[in-house]
Order: sequence, then structure tokens, then C-alpha cells
Amino acid sequence: MARHYRNRKRILVTGGAGFLGSHLCDRLLDAGNEVLCVDNLFTGTKRNIDHLHSHPQFEFMRHDVTFPLYVEVDQIYNLACPASPVHYQHDPVQTAKTSVHGAINMLGLAKRLKCPILQASTSEVYGDPHMSPQREDYWGNVNPIGLRSCYDEGKRCAETLFFDYHRQHGVPIKVARIFNTYGPRMHPRDGRVVSNFIGQALNNEDITIYGDGSQTRSFCYVDELVDGLIRLMNSDEDVIGPINLGNPGEFSIKELAEKIIAYTGSQSKLTFHDLPSDDPTQRRPDITRAQQLLGWDPKIKLDTGIAHTVEYFQNLLNVKQPQY
Ligand code: NAD
Ligand code: UDP
Ligand code: UDP
Repeated sequence: MARHYRNRKRILVTGGAGFLGSHLCDRLLDAGNEVLCVDNLFTGTKRNIDHLHSHPQFEFMRHDVTFPLYVEVDQIYNLACPASPVHYQHDPVQTAKTSVHGAINMLGLAKRLKCPILQASTSEVYGDPHMSPQREDYWGNVNPIGLRSCYDEGKRCAETLFFDYHRQHGVPIKVARIFNTYGPRMHPRDGRVVSNFIGQALNNEDITIYGDGSQTRSFCYVDELVDGLIRLMNSDEDVIGPINLGNPGEFSIKELAEKIIAYTGSQSKLTFHDLPSDDPTQRRPDITRAQQLLGWDPKIKLDTGIAHTVEYFQNLLNVKQPQY
């Protein structure tokens, strides 16, 4: 036990009240660390971290990362940023500011503290890729002026800042390119495909497929993704990334809808709607780097992950007065 506490770190998680961030806080606390969760609650909710408030090693600070932050920590996970297209397009200027000013402030903090900082980057840096699966050395195909650009280009600029702070100031960086991740605590109304389809199926509502449903995504279960982030943060100093983190299983959106209908036994019908502009047609990670450098290899199959996620959404529906 004593040894356990000697290794305890004080860890900052920005975006810690969000979907991924709250799972990350849980895991870091379980490992015996102190966690400072910084979030402005734009898309995150207190409900995601309610269970942590009485934890003696957990602290929540409501703060917007576009403003400077002066705290003392040993590691920084920078996850603050809306991730669902519906949310990041709601206030695109704020989205770009969060990625860019947020990265500058968190990198300034890491520079002052000389501490490692991990950036939650995204498969969106590949845009609508001409290469599949996507390897980290692919530069991507991104529209700089479209509706998704505030997120895609914001995240690309954040990567640039991470590598420049590393080269110019010697900041120890880690850059993860996260592919579509799903699981419990996804916001039921955040507009992402897994949460939309499960909510619609459980309510026997029409399933809203955008386009003809032939576009593909690769879905990673949240527990495995969080494990990948922690492995990357604690990897050798020369492992800085970028490193793809995602499950290489690739499914069309129509296949996903059919799986969810079959699993829930829903009466829902598939309906087809306009495809949003710049919606990538395919997405699948090459995870050779993560396998070799982190020993990370996600195993949870989509069917299993969907079962856990459906259970979470069923429980939410059974709560008479939901907190969200
Ligand atoms: P999420 O929306 O649930 O969480 C983001 C969190 O950041 C929320 O709690 C939100 O309130 C907070 N936030 C937003 N702007 C902020 C600001 N200016 N200051 C402080 N906090 C702010 O999304 P998520 O799925 O948990 O994503 C977390 C991170 O992982 C994001 O950076 C996202 O880009 C990245 N990512 C996620 C996925 C995925 O599939 N979930 C894929 C690729 C990348
Ligand atoms: N910053 C911060 N916390 C710190 C140190 C810096 O929020 O502990 C912010 C600060 O607002 C600054 C930004 O990080 O604007 C970048 O810091 P850096 O040292 O790179 O730049 P400078 O202060 O020289 O502009
Ligand atoms: N999508 C869909 N119906 C929905 C929500 C999303 O068909 O109700 C599609 C969307 O057009 C995209 C894919 O599902 O092709 C994944 O969308 P999501 O917003 O989850 O993530 P991203 O586009 O960022 O990968």
C-alpha cells in the first residue's frame, strides 16, 4: 500500500466531465492517483462525475481552457473539446478557440511545470481519406473552410502546436489520434451515430441514416480506448506519436443500424436523410504503431460493446426524471 501511494501523481484531465474524460478520471483514481478535473460543462455533465465528488483524491474545477490556468500537476491529459459534429458546429468559433487557445494554454502550463502532456487528437485529421486503413504518416484530405473545419483544422493546428512546443521548448508530448469511440456515458442527445441509433431503437422511432449508409466507421469500446490513452501517457519518453487509437473492425453505418435493431428487437424502420457536407466516406485505423509501441490491441467486439451501451441507455430511460 505504501508503495502504491509513493507512486501517486496529481493528474489534470481537461474535459474530464465528458464521455471519455469521466472514464479516464475513474481509471486514474482507481490506480491511486489524484485527479484534477477541469471542464466548462459545455457538453459534459456533472452526472458523469457525480459518483466521484466524495472521492478524497478527486477535485472538480469549472473552467474554460481558452483562458489561462495556473495549477500544479504532474501530468496533463488535454481532452477538452466538443466531439460530436452537432455540438462542435453549434459554436464553431468557440470550437476552434478551444482546440487552439486551449492547446496553447495547456502547453504553456506543461512548459512551466516541465510535465508530460497528452493531446486527444482525432481521426478527423485525416478528413475524407484517400488511403485506407489510415496510417499515421498519411497527411489527410481536409477541407479547410467547410462545416467540419472548425474541429478538423482546430485539431490539426493543436497537433502542430504540440510538436512545435516539443521541438522549441522540449515539452514532453504525447499525441493520440482517437477513432470513433462509444460506450456508457455518451450523451443521449449529442447526435453521434451510436447514441442516436440506440436511443431511436429503444424508443421504436425511425433510425436516421444520413446518406445511403454505405459510409464506414471503426468503433472502439470506451474502456479499451482509455487504456490506450494511459499506456501512451506512460510510454517511453521518445514515444510522442502521433499514434492511432481505434478498433480496426470496419462497419458501414447501415450495418451498425441493423445490428442495433437486431440486438434490441426494435420495431424501428431505417429512414434515409441527406448526408452532411464533408462526411468522410471511410474510416479505419492502422494500429501497427500502437500494437508495437504500446502493446495495445483492442479486443472488444462491436456486438459486445453495443450490449453494454444498450444496457446503459435502458437504465437512463428507466430513470423517471433524467438529470440531463
Ligand atoms: P465530450 O463532448 O463528451 O467531452 C468533451 C468535454 O470537454 C466536455 O465535458 C466539455 O464540457 C468539455 N469542454 C468543451 N470545451 C471546453 C472548454 N473550452 N473548456 C473546458 N472544457 C471544455 O466528448 P468526448 O467524446 O469525451 O471527447 C473527448 C476528447 O476526445 C475530445 O477532445 C475529442 O475531440 C476527442 N475525441 C473523441 C472521439 C470519440 O469518438 N469520442 C474521437 C476522436 C477524438
Ligand atoms: N499558461 C497557463 N498556465 C501556466 C503557464 C502558461 O495557462 O502555468 C498560458 C499563458 O496564458 C500563455 C500560454 O499558456 O499565454 C502559453 O505559454 P507560453 O509560456 O508558451 O507563452 P508566453 O507566456 O510566453 O506567451
Ligand atoms: N450518422 C447517421 N445518423 C445519425 C448520426 C450520424 O447516419 O443519426 C452518420 C454520420 O453521417 C457519419 C457517421 O454516422 O457518417 C458517424 O457519425 P458521428 O457523428 O457519430 O461521427 P463522425 O462523423 O465524426 O465520425
